[in-house]
Amino acid sequence: MPNEDWGEVERTRPFWASKVGLARICPLRLLLEQEPAYDPEIPSSPLAVLGSILHEVVAELVPGNDVEEAVETAISAKLIPSDATRATAVPLYETVSPSELAARVGVAKRLATNLTVRTKSGARRRPRPLPLRNSDPFARSNVWLNSTEHDLCGSLDHLERTQEGLLTVSEAKTGRIRDTEGQLKGEHFAQLLSYGLLVQANMHAESIVLRLCGIDGTEVVRFDDVFAENARSALQHLQTLLPRNVQLKSSELATCGTGCYRCSYRNRCADYRAWAPRRWTDPESGHLPLDCWGIMEKVEADSEPWLARIYVRDPTGHLASITHVPRRLLPLNVQTGCLIAAFNLRSFERRSSKRPANFAVASLRRTYESAHDAVLFFEKNNSV
Ligand code: SF4
Repeated sequence: MPNEDWGEVERTRPFWASKVGLARICPLRLLLEQEPAYDPEIPSSPLAVLGSILHEVVAELVPGNDVEEAVETAISAKLIPSDATRATAVPLYETVSPSELAARVGVAKRLATNLTVRTKSGARRRPRPLPLRNSDPFARSNVWLNSTEHDLCGSLDHLERTQEGLLTVSEAKTGRIRDTEGQLKGEHFAQLLSYGLLVQANMHAESIVLRLCGIDGTEVVRFDDVFAENARSALQHLQTLLPRNVQLKSSELATCGTGCYRCSYRNRCADYRAWAPRRWTDPESGHLPLDCWGIMEKVEADSEPWLARIYVRDPTGHLASITHVPRRLLPLNVQTGCLIAAFNLRSFERRSSKRPANFAVASLRRTYESAHDAVLFFEKNNSV
């Protein structure tokens, strides 16, 4: 398996409010995601890229009654630009299915429609200082706040204050915000409460409302004293778990589970490496990220000259195939017996809840189903 894991890790900066919710999922992932020293090698999913685009679009909205049309036009322009960036935009557009795209456009519309005071000309304007301690009404996008008291910082998608002193934080999520029981997901709730603390520490407000929009609706939370106390004690606990400027063993922080699905650090995580094969062979377990690793037993021609088919013997002894691998992804000197680790693949098998036996990279019939974000690592060493 390529790459070593991190050994010891260290938090060198304040907690990012958008990451604190990850503490419930995996404290190691929280730390890796917020520290610049640990760049991921597996790219963000196309939906995460779409999420960034959506945030940019909302930040640049101009006032007017045609919010819905403006959002749709702006997202289309970002995804299919007419300039030189088209080459990178098209794979993203093809990866995201039309229904996924429509769902994200819906989030932007809902968020934009809910803003009572809109940004005048968006993020391109020169930033102006916020009226922090007085009660002037204002509305801004991408507001950066920090608090030394809480060792916390964060960028709020949108913040507005009305004449009456009501401060509203609006945040957009490009996925679902509720769990299977219809409750606001714990990680999103933690993020919202952290924003509440940041606003409370920096600004004058009679009251604070936190609003979260996702593809499954909008949630509104009034940030009262009870929530403020909860947020404070959660952060204190986090500071004990991840103290600043202290070297910590990554293996003691790693927590494997569903959080690994969307973790861009999987290829270097020793705990995930040990845990995933156990899950592969557990008949009760749910589906896992579409990753595969082991010894490459064979490479053969696939349906097109530019495609290859790879057979991999994984650590459980199972022979998996990875089909439709563009040959440009294979090193020139690749040989059977080397180690291969492949992440973010696709599976065209019907029962996605079971472990797939056959993976694929490209889909020739439905190109948007291709694994555009797949990564393959090769290594000569033959010990897994
Ligand atoms: S792969 Fe899983 S255990 Fe490892 S850092 Fe990511 S979320 Fe944590």
